[in-house]
Amino acid sequence: KAGPGAVLSCENITVSFDGFRAVQGMDLELQPGELRFLIGPNGAGKTTMLDVLCGKVKPSSGKVIFRGRANAVDVSKRREHEIARLGIGRKFQTPSVFPGLTVDENLEIAMSQNRGVWAVLRAKTSKFDRMRIEANLELIGLADKKRLRAGLLSHGEKQWLEIGMLLLQEPEVLLLDEPVAGMTDRETEKTGELLRQIVRKRTVVVVEHDMEFVRRFASRVTVMHEGKLLKEGTMEEVQRDERVAEVYLGR
Ligand code: ADP
Repeated sequence: KAGPGAVLSCENITVSFDGFRAVQGMDLELQPGELRFLIGPNGAGKTTMLDVLCGKVKPSSGKVIFRGRANAVDVSKRREHEIARLGIGRKFQTPSVFPGLTVDENLEIAMSQNRGVWAVLRAKTSKFDRMRIEANLELIGLADKKRLRAGLLSHGEKQWLEIGMLLLQEPEVLLLDEPVAGMTDRETEKTGELLRQIVRKRTVVVVEHDMEFVRRFASRVTVMHEGKLLKEGTMEEVQRDERVAEVYLGR
C-alpha cells in the first residue's frame, strides 16, 4: 500500500491510554517535500499522532516507516532522541528557547547539539557552521535581532527562532503543532512564507486549527475524527465532504 517514494508511512496506528483509544487504525503517508495539514475537532487524536511520529508516544499497534537518510526504519520501535537524530524534528506549541541567551547563541547551541559534547567544549563555531547560522537567521527573519536576548523577542519571533533551531539539526521531516497560534496577522503571514521556504527542502506536517491559514496553501489536508482518518484531500475536497461538515467545519 505504501508508495515507494513515501518519506514517512504510518500503517494502522492505534494508541491506547488506559484502554481509551486516542488513535484507532490511522494511516498516513507523506511524500518528500510535502506540506501536510492535520486537522479535526478537539480530541480527534492529532497531537497524539505527532507524538507517535516523533516517538514520544508508542503506538499499541501499527508501524511508522521512515525512509530517511538511512534505510527504512520502523520508528515506532525507536526512542525519541534516536528518532530526532534519524531526522524527524518536533516543535511543540510553547517555544522553548533559552531566554537569557541571544538569538545567535540559541542557534549555536542548537547546532552544537548535533555535534556532541566535543563541539560544545571546543566552544568555537567553525566558519562553515557560522555560514549556516547566518543563512538560518535570514530564513527565519531574525538577522537584525541576532544579538538580542531571546527572552525579549515577540511570541512569533520566539516561534521562528525555535523553528530555526530545529532546522539546524537538519531534519528531513518537521512536525509542527499549531505554529500560528497566538500570532498577529503579520506574524501569521510571515510564518506562511517561512513554511513555503522550508518545504522546498523538507517534509512538514502541521497540526492546525486556523482554517484560514490552511486555505493559503494548496496542500493536502488530512482530517481526523475520534482517532480515525475521516477524509484526505485538498481543502476544497475536504470542505465538500458531508461528514467533515458534520463533525467539524459546520459546527
Ligand atoms: P487533538 O490534538 O486532536 O485535540 P489529542 O491527540 O490531544 O487530540 O487527544 C486525543 C484524545 O486522547 C483526547 O480525548 C485526549 O483527552 C486523549 N489523550 C491524549 N493524551 C492522553 C494521555 N496522555 N492520557 C490519556 N488520554 C490522553
